[in-house]
Amino acid sequence: YAKSQKSSYCQFYQSDMVVATADQIRLETWLRYALERNEFEVYYQPQLNLRTGRIEAAEALIRWKHPEMGYISPGQFIPLAEETGLIISIGQWVLETACKQARQWHDMNLGLRHMSVNLSSVQFNQGTLSQQIAHTIKNTGLSPHMIELEITETALMQDANAAIRTLNELKDLGMRLAVDDFGTGYSSLGYLQKLPIDTLKIDNCFVRGVTTDHKNQVILQSAIQMGHDLGLCIVAEGVETMDEQSFLEAYQCDFVQGYLIGKPMNAAQLQAYLEQRLALVQIAV
Ligand code: C2E
Ligand code: MG
Ligand code: MG
Ligand code: MG
Repeated sequence: YAKSQKSSYCQFYQSDMVVATADQIRLETWLRYALERNEFEVYYQPQLNLRTGRIEAAEALIRWKHPEMGYISPGQFIPLAEETGLIISIGQWVLETACKQARQWHDMNLGLRHMSVNLSSVQFNQGTLSQQIAHTIKNTGLSPHMIELEITETALMQDANAAIRTLNELKDLGMRLAVDDFGTGYSSLGYLQKLPIDTLKIDNCFVRGVTTDHKNQVILQSAIQMGHDLGLCIVAEGVETMDEQSFLEAYQCDFVQGYLIGKPMNAAQLQAYLEQRLALVQIAV
């Protein structure tokens, strides 16, 4: 399971048969104890507003450091956490941690308008999701609009009508909602405009090589245009080069996120990064 899942092509949705290998069973055993053994940490990746030139949001991304195996990527353990149902408690822990952190950074005036948190389809399809989230947010004393929940396009397509109902419940709480990995799940325009969403996050794979790949240029351009026509905020993921960022800027993409702007960092590192950037803005004035 140490195999890297990095890919430079777009992976479209397919339901693969899951084969339990000895490695996987071992991983599952470790995963059961990871939460109580404090092996998880939340990292944060900055999102840059291209119009203001400021870091105005961050995405919470879970990290698992096993004492012997070292870092195990979310791509490997999230699917397992979903199959076993462990994602419910893990996801709740991420949400709580990210909310507390968002509250702290908000009080420090570091310029963050919201914090994005990923929701698994398993959490999303849980009947009690919105009550649970309402409770967590209330406990941290955060305004609901400071949390943006990210749900993948694929998860939203599983049961379209149920998804619309759940999204409406979350929207009624005042949260921001984003469609993650947009472009990989074949959702229709008609469906998108029925969703009470704020943001489209365009998948990495369309950004990669956009400066040379004409097809990706067309896709990015029309996704941005369409999103704006629907009144949505557009975030491009996986921006690694200045050429990619310039292209996105030229096509009026709203936010960029990727290694060029900053890798996912632990809380102390992101805080230092935000403070440093704010100090630079002050000097420039
Ligand atoms: P995602 O939500 O689409 O997150 C973006 C992924 O792209 C992250 O991978 C991030 O580290 C990576 N990334 C960011 N910028 C770049 C870049 O410039 N180049 C490249 N090559 N990659 C970039 P990560 O952290 O490994 O997470 C992978 C996926 O695991 C996430 O995709 C998300 O679906 C899931 N995930 C991560 N944390 C959580 C969580 O707390 N809960 C749930 N349910 N899923 C999570
Ligand atoms: Mg995400
Ligand atoms: Mg994504
Ligand atoms: Mg992804």
